[in-house]
This record gives sequence, structure tokens and C-alpha cells, in this order.
Amino acid sequence: MQKVTSFFILSGLLILGACSPPEPDLLSGKIIDLSYAYDDTTIFWPTAKEFELEVVHAGMTDAGYYYAANNFCTAEHGGTHIDAPIHFSENGKTVDAIPVDRLIGKGVVIDVSEKCTENRDYRAQVEDFTAWEEEHGGQLNDVIILLRTGFGKYWPDREQYMGTDERGEQAVPKLHFPGLHPEAAKWLAENRSVKAIGLDTPSIDYGQSRLFESHVTLFEHNIPAFENIANLDQLPEKDFTVIALPMKIKGGSGGPLRIVAVVKE
Ligand SMILES: [Zn+2]
Repeated sequence: MQKVTSFFILSGLLILGACSPPEPDLLSGKIIDLSYAYDDTTIFWPTAKEFELEVVHAGMTDAGYYYAANNFCTAEHGGTHIDAPIHFSENGKTVDAIPVDRLIGKGVVIDVSEKCTENRDYRAQVEDFTAWEEEHGGQLNDVIILLRTGFGKYWPDREQYMGTDERGEQAVPKLHFPGLHPEAAKWLAENRSVKAIGLDTPSIDYGQSRLFESHVTLFEHNIPAFENIANLDQLPEKDFTVIALPMKIKGGSGGPLRIVAVVKE
């Protein structure tokens, strides 16, 4: 009886909604944490200041209650973080100015992990995105794209993950990890409406990039990037919601990012 009643209510809603089906509940399902914790093993760019935690207090106070508090210091770009458009685009948005609705939305995974296993300098091509569209039907519009290179499995081994565990300027030419090809960045920015794009490597441009052209193209179009995303191997290729809320640093070029996916069950 209850089912019959639900059927009539649903039918009524469909008619009221001019025959468009009701939006499925984007927030119901299994939650998967896509952020790494910050500690002294967190991977940063070889030239960046790493995460530091200073314990202010941890223990009982003289008054008899327990109290814990720390100070922390970190580069904006390290660990699981967001690149705000201003990072490579003078007139791009700062992290606090990115509209929150850009950071919450339907997610898709583009899996290029096999190609990246064969070639750690692989850059995702336009064909990798059109192949997803052909397989799943529909265009990559109004979505948050997550690029699965498979390199997350190497975290936190710097040498495996980035190609070198050296630090400083001399380490930069030794970086080898996959990224997004600049032509694919341009194609996405000009032909699709992408809310944001992220991946499981330290940078949206591959390790050998010198001009960071994918950053430049995406950020000229105010499309933010998420870097060092965790647990991408636990996501399906579609039917999940991404919630990616960074620390709101006034004027920031990026910042630590807590990102989760809600996967339909
Ligand atoms: Zn960054």
C-alpha cells in the first residue's frame, strides 16, 4: 500500500515538475575521503616549505582539565590541495573567491592508469576524455573531473610518486609523473563546462613541464585544479558527488583541501 501511495506522490511530482525527473539525492551514499593527512611525510613540491606542526600544549592543565592545541605552518601547495586560478593567471580568482558551487558537483573519473604505468611521463589526451563520453554517453559538462593516473598507490614514497626524493631547485628537472596534456586542457576549457579538475599526482601539468601550460589554460578560464588527491582507486567512473572545500585563505593562490566523494550505493 505504501508503495502504491509513493507511486502516486512521485507521479504527481513528475507532472508538477513539467515531466523532468526529481534530482536524485546527491548526498546519499558511501562517503570516501579523498584527502591525505598533513604530517611530516606529506609530499610538497621540491622547492616548497613543508608542513610543520608545533605543539603548544598537550596534557593536563594545572586546573585539572585536558587541553591540546598546536600551531601549524605550511606552503599553500602541498599535500591534497587546491590551485586557485590566480596561481598561474594574473586576473584569476583567489581561493577565497572561488564560488562554492564550483567545488561541489557531479564527479567523473577518467582512468589513464594503464597508460601511466607504461609511461610515467604520460599526459592525458583529448581522446581519453572523448573515450569516456563514448563509453558512458553524454558530454563532460557541469562535472568535476578526476584524472586517475594510478600514482596514488606510491604515496608517500617521494621517489616513486614524483620521480625523485631530492629537494631544492636541482630536483625539479628530475620530476617524472603524469599529468594533463595542454591540448586536452584547452579542449576541456573551450568545448566543455568543467567545474574543476583534479588528479592523483603533485601537479596538473606533468613532472617534466617547464611552462605549466595546462595550469595556464585552465586558470585563464577560472577552472581550479585539485592535486595529490587520495583514494581515487576507490571511485567508480561516474555516479558520485564531489565535495571539495579548501581552507579559505584571503587572497590565497591555493590551500589545503578536504575533498570527499559520495558514491551512490
Ligand atoms: Zn598546487
